[in-house]
Amino acid sequence: THFNFDQLVNEIVEDIQLTAEKHQIQLKLKSLRDIHGDRERIQQVIVNLITNAVKYSPDANRIIVFTEDHGHEVQLCVQDFGIGLPPDKKDLVFEQFYRVSGTKEHTFPGLGLGLYISSEIVKQLGGRIWVNSIAGKGSTFCFAIPVVQALQTSTQENES
Ligand code: ATP
Ligand code: MG
Repeated sequence: THFNFDQLVNEIVEDIQLTAEKHQIQLKLKSLRDIHGDRERIQQVIVNLITNAVKYSPDANRIIVFTEDHGHEVQLCVQDFGIGLPPDKKDLVFEQFYRVSGTKEHTFPGLGLGLYISSEIVKQLGGRIWVNSIAGKGSTFCFAIPVVQALQTSTQENES
């Protein structure tokens, strides 16, 4: 199957925006690319990143979702202006069940699985996932995936 990446992102954000009333989710969609691959799994990664941005920015209302065309890859980033991450926690958040503990002001429910699952999906699709963050200022979570995904290609070859 193939689908337009920006259109998928747009649909997901419209959906999440309905429940995230307090937050204003801005879109800067510039990938302009069709993706050959697993729409549902890519959707799951995007949902995880945006719902995290909403959850971990309880006092900030702006979230920016942007996509870019990087030739053989498309990239998506979700920027929030929320609680951010201490530098030593940046790699740990992609581990199974890892959660940064809450503060006096805020506790956040969750299992610590969203980013682990997201990173497994992205790796399976032949891509990468990472985060830039400053504690107390906010975070930008990004992933990049090949426009033609490795696993999907071999499945299609087997089918034909
Ligand atoms: P769930 O399994 O429901 O997603 P979760 O949100 O706690 O639970 P992850 O999405 O895997 O789990 O995130 C792991 C941890 O990384 C979170 O508990 C939180 O401490 C931190 N984190 C994730 N996203 C952000 C963000 N946008 N800003 C700050 N911290 C974040
Ligand atoms: Mg989560």
